[in-house]
Formats: sequence, structure tokens, C-alpha cells
Amino acid sequence: MLNKQGRPTTPAAAHVEHRETFTSNRALQLEEALIFDVGREDVCGVDFDEPAPFKARLGAHARKASTGLPGLSEPEAVRHYVRLSQKNYSIDSGLYPLGSCTMKHNPRLNERMARLPGFSDVHPLQPVSTVPGALELMQDLSHWLITLTGMEAVALSPKAGAHGEMCGMMTIRAAIEARGESATRRVVLVPDSAHGTNPATAAAMGFEVRSVPAGADGIVHVDAVKALLGPEVAAIMLTNPNTCGLFEKQIVEIADAIHAAGGYFYCDGANFNAIVGKVRPGDLGVDAMHINLHKTFSTPHGGGGPGSGPVVLSKRLAPFAPVPFLKRDDKTITLVEHAKGTQAAGRITAFHGQMGMFVRALSYILSHGSDGLQQSSQDAVLNANYVRACMADLMSLPFGNRPCMHEALFDDAWLKDTGVTTLDFAKAMIDEGYHPMTIYFPLVVHGAMLIEPTESESKAALDLFIMTLRDLAFSVKRGETERFVGAPHFAPRARLDETRAARQPVLRWTPRKPVLAEAAE
Ligand SMILES: *Cc1c(COP(=O)(O)O)cnc(C)c1O
Repeated sequence: MLNKQGRPTTPAAAHVEHRETFTSNRALQLEEALIFDVGREDVCGVDFDEPAPFKARLGAHARKASTGLPGLSEPEAVRHYVRLSQKNYSIDSGLYPLGSCTMKHNPRLNERMARLPGFSDVHPLQPVSTVPGALELMQDLSHWLITLTGMEAVALSPKAGAHGEMCGMMTIRAAIEARGESATRRVVLVPDSAHGTNPATAAAMGFEVRSVPAGADGIVHVDAVKALLGPEVAAIMLTNPNTCGLFEKQIVEIADAIHAAGGYFYCDGANFNAIVGKVRPGDLGVDAMHINLHKTFSTPHGGGGPGSGPVVLSKRLAPFAPVPFLKRDDKTITLVEHAKGTQAAGRITAFHGQMGMFVRALSYILSHGSDGLQQSSQDAVLNANYVRACMADLMSLPFGNRPCMHEALFDDAWLKDTGVTTLDFAKAMIDEGYHPMTIYFPLVVHGAMLIEPTESESKAALDLFIMTLRDLAFSVKRGETERFVGAPHFAPRARLDETRAARQPVLRWTPRKPVLAEAAE
């Protein structure tokens, strides 16, 4: 169904597909060995001067053997890292429909702002008097986050969504302690569709987790919550929009019920990007909510690196925000760095959080303005619904063909008896040059496939993506299982044993014969 005219863009004959090359390179797909395999100890890419005469004071601790670290010339080092970087799929290489992760474009304007020396060169141990601009920026970002969520205060220091959950639950624990109820309020309610970090956070904070079943329509019903409420309940952790891509319609009733029972309402706000400018969580009765700057406000998901998960807090929880926090009176902004003399729930990170991410997020917010932020949410929801509507005739929807929020959730009912699984289908997308959607999450849906296109894709890009999915789906229906089983066929590595990689990771490099010596034998 894709372009059949002109020259074929896929290898035509099977013998071409499977031909091995001497180097294992395949044209532009370049192999790269481990740095320990390519490096030599006696090579260095930099000319160092002989050190000035010095007197070693290490005594018996002085190193006698060599470090064994691999040395590379400058071009070898450049090639090594460039080749590795090309093995990554990234939002800069193509559409990245990973549901729940919000892989959207990171505007280059944000990057430029974050590189301004006044921000990028700031050191966390600099005297506070030398960084009024950085504090002002943090204050501005705080103002926007508080305004957009309708909350009282914000803790900026958490460095990821999960870290934000920890911060929020710490404030809840501190508030309960202040009420003298820490011995009795020990239970946290978590819906069974929640992101795994929710129960993990509650457990790590010493709470007992009790699961709330979702209704057949994919949302949590207030009656199910009420059935579990009691004087032992400290809080509920609810995601809205939830991980099925649905808006929790009974959220206000749920908030009222938890408050009436003396508990707090933690909202997992990782999916805030679907509702920014449309609804304020504060108006829904939320007490604490983390915001993933790396999702909603387009800061990069840095390969597990610099995330940022500020937590907004209601009036009831604001006094328990961890240090450091900003205090503004009239003209001056002060940084409160010590918990002593406050009700702060301690400190959760060494310094102040991810400054570079604050700059990027504020840059995104200011360049969009309030109307632009609202438009982004609307477009994210529209795009997800476009994908849903275009695929509904071929793929099955667990909660019926009704509007979703920012992500469309399919299940594997349509794959029944085809010999193709959710995993096979997702892996075949790699051959088509797409990162797979999120699969087998949320757990409440069998063989889940969660697609989040985000607002930053054009209609043309979405159409090509949809046509690709349709082509794959027709292929399933025609019984072309070889396209799926064992896919990806064109990637440098095919099916990895992910279970073994997780259970028995090989973390230590052991020397082996140089590749060229092996080839010569
Ligand atoms: C991404 C996500 C989290 C965790 O955020 P991290 O920044 O990855 O720690 C928590 N809950 C939901 C619903 C998410 O999508």
C-alpha cells in the first residue's frame, strides 16, 4: 500500500537480505566494537607535556600496574562515539510513538537559551548573591507551574517523575506526622492501571499499597475507592489522564471522598501534557502532583539523564515542601536552604535540581504563551484520536471506539489466532524505521499497545505512520507471519534476549583476541 512506483527501496531478493559482509558493516550501518576492543593502552589522542618535577606522596598506594584503560587517537574516538550515536533511535531521527513517554520535539530555541553562559556556567556552590538571574528564572518557572496547575507552591528540586513522586509522598508523610497520625495512616491506594513507579514510591515511603480496580470502562469509579477508604488510608495516587489514555471523569468525587476520609490526593501528572491550559489540577482537589518537564514541557529525555519532575503542592501540603525553596517578598527572592525552623520534609537532592531543564521548560512556556500551551494539548489529543480513528477498523480497542486523550490504547484481541503477538508486531515496526509503541503496558489490558504521537508531528508524518501501521496490520491478516516472527530483520541486531540481559547482565569486559588477528586465522 506504500509507494510501489519507481525503484524498490527494500532489498528485493532474499539472498541480498541475508548476505554477510566481511566487516559486518552494511553500507551506512556501521559495526562498532567495544571501546576496550578497539583501544590500545599505548595510544593517546592528546599530546600532554611532560609533567613538571613533583614529589609523589602516595607511598605504598602509588599505582604499579597500568590502568588498562583503552586509548584512542582523536579520529578513532570521534568515529567510535559517532557510530554509537547512530545506533540510537531518537526523536531527532523519526516519529517516536512511545505511549506514556511523550517523546515530542525539543525546540532548538530551548537549547540555545540553556547554553547562555549565565545559565550553563552557573555552579551550585556559587554564593547566592552572584546568581540573582538564576533565582529569578526559577521563580518565573515556579509562577507558571503554579498558575497552570492552580496550586499553592512548587518544589523544583526533584530530578525525574519518580523522584517527584517520592517528593510528593514525603510531604504527605510529613503532613500526616504533623497530625500525629503516622502510626495509624499507613495505607496508600493505587489503581491497578498505575505506572509501576506509583506503588514502588508508596512502598519505598513505608506505606502499605492497596490496589483499586478500574471499571470496565478503563477509569476508576468513586464507589471502588469508597469501598477501600478508612482511617488507615493516608492517600490515593491517581494518574490523570490515566495510563489507558482516558480522562478520570470521577476525579472530583474521588478527591472529595479521600478528603472526607482524612487522606491526601496525590495525582501522577506525567500526562499533564494532555490537559495543560484546559483544566487546573488544583480545581480538581489534587494535593500534590509531579510534572515531568521532560514530557509536558519538551525538555529532552536525556537517555536516562537529566529529567526534571517538579511537584506542585496544595495549601495543605505547601508547608512541608522540601528544601531548598524560593521565598519571594516584594522585591527580593531568598533561597531557603535549611530545613531547621521550618516544617520542610527534609531535602531530596544535593543542590537545587536541574537548572538546564528549568531554562528549557521556561523557554518552551514563554515561547508558546498560555494560548500556545493550550493549543499543544489540543493538538496532542487530536493527533492521538486521528491515529485511533484511522486504525479502529483493523486493530482492537479495549474500551471501545470512543475518544481518547493524548494516547490511543489498543489490545491484542485482533491478533488472536494469527500467530503474531504484540511483541512481534512492535518489532516489525523497527524494520519500517519506527520506534515501537509502548507494549504490554498498562498491565490491565491484554497485549497492550499504547501509541502517543504527540502534537509535534505533522499530518503528513502521521499519515505515513498510519499507512505503515495499516500495511503491517493487513500483512497480519493475510497470514504473512514471516514478516513478524523474528523481526526486526533489517536492524543491526535482531531479537535480543531481553530477559537474560536483565537477569544475567554481563557487566565486565574480558580481553579477547583482537578482531583482526581472529580474521587472519
Ligand atoms: C513517565 C511516567 C512516570 C515516571 O517519570 P520518570 O521521569 O520516568 O521517572 C510516572 N508515571 C507516569 C504515568 C509516567 O508516564
